Amino acid sequence: MQTQILGLLTPLMALLFAATFAVFWRAGGMKRHVLGFAIGYLLFALGFLATHFLPSEAVYLFHTTQALYSLGVIVYLASLCERAGQKLHISSQIGVYIISAAVLALAVSMTNDVGPRLIIVNMGYGVMCAMGLTTLLTAPRRTVIDTAIIVVVAIQAADFVVRPNLTLMFEKTIPAADYRDSIYYSLIGLVLGVKSVAAAMVLIGATIAELTTTLRESSERDDLTGLHNRGSFEQSMRSLLPRAQIEGRPLSLVVADIDHFKQVNDIWGHQSGDHAIAGFAEIIENMVRGCDVSGRIGGEEFCIAVWNCDNRPAERLAERIRQSFAHLEHEGLNDDIRLTASFGVATAQDGETYEDLFARADAALYQAKSNGRDRVENAERPRAPEIKPHKAPEIVELRQAASDR
Ligand code: GH3
Ligand code: MG
Ligand code: MG
Repeated sequence: MQTQILGLLTPLMALLFAATFAVFWRAGGMKRHVLGFAIGYLLFALGFLATHFLPSEAVYLFHTTQALYSLGVIVYLASLCERAGQKLHISSQIGVYIISAAVLALAVSMTNDVGPRLIIVNMGYGVMCAMGLTTLLTAPRRTVIDTAIIVVVAIQAADFVVRPNLTLMFEKTIPAADYRDSIYYSLIGLVLGVKSVAAAMVLIGATIAELTTTLRESSERDDLTGLHNRGSFEQSMRSLLPRAQIEGRPLSLVVADIDHFKQVNDIWGHQSGDHAIAGFAEIIENMVRGCDVSGRIGGEEFCIAVWNCDNRPAERLAERIRQSFAHLEHEGLNDDIRLTASFGVATAQDGETYEDLFARADAALYQAKSNGRDRVENAERPRAPEIKPHKAPEIVELRQAASDR
């Protein structure tokens, strides 16, 4: 009775972990590898249950458990690799399973001793884990959690190879009928239980860390464009400004606003307007460097913090974005319609606050608007207002184009 209860403990724990990962995946909207952890643990639980309930003298016992465990190991390793941005070589894993299943069939047909069977199946899992480990080790990034996962997989690989050989040195032969009374069987219950709890704890920790990062990032991002939202952009600026001062690096700010945008909504509808906003954001994303921060701070207003960048190069960046946007075709608008945007640029001065820097860049933007739009104005190089023919599409032009549709 006691053995029965203890034997059920490991599969029940594995089922509990499978359910935990399934809930994380479903309710937390998490990536596919978390579902993979759930399926892996479910297969391990089924394997443990098969070991516990199938008749120990049945010839198919080891084949059944080997199939379930191998599939579980493959799903588990593939998920770990996917989490680390790597791809597990699944055909090699299946190859290892086929070879060890064939050798197992040979051993079952030759002897009633379960010792060789245990060594064959465990060596197979060990080789699979070692192969997964080599893939994990090639991953470029390595956080503390990644290292913990690598250690767990390394311990699992070593355990599969060492444990059966070591135990069977003491217990020379185990007839199939006595398998559940063997030292090996008592040991395996304990070792697998501890191993599955330890691995699950590391993976649950990793999953919670991923969930927290995803939630934080989604709260900082604008849904339509994927850029930083206003709050997150301002927070970044408030930490970049003192850092620029301490490190003695220039920090420039570009503020941009799409011209005559109200008409785009009025004439072609809000959805077409949304496409134009997303198109503008995509141009910004493609033109800034990884160290810059870009945000959507209002409806069709954008900001770029150009890190370690003097005033003139920042102005040139704004000019490149302006030109690129002026050539962009827009979904939902007439083919010949092009939109334009106006830009203001300012570079942080000693001790300047974000509010003051933004006010200067915004004043330059206002200047660009009043100078005829579709242009970049620089707060550090103020120009006298010039009278220039409007290049940006005017109300009448847009209306005319719309009526031609
Ligand atoms: P200006 O050249 O002076 O900038 O003229 P404008 O028409 O662009 O003027 P303004 O900046 O005041 O208008 C912004 C418009 O953007 C008003 C609002 O209807 C629209 N808008 C704000 N947020 C969104 C959004 O998320 N999607 C869409 N489609 N439109 C938006
Ligand atoms: Mg605006
Ligand atoms: Mg506007």
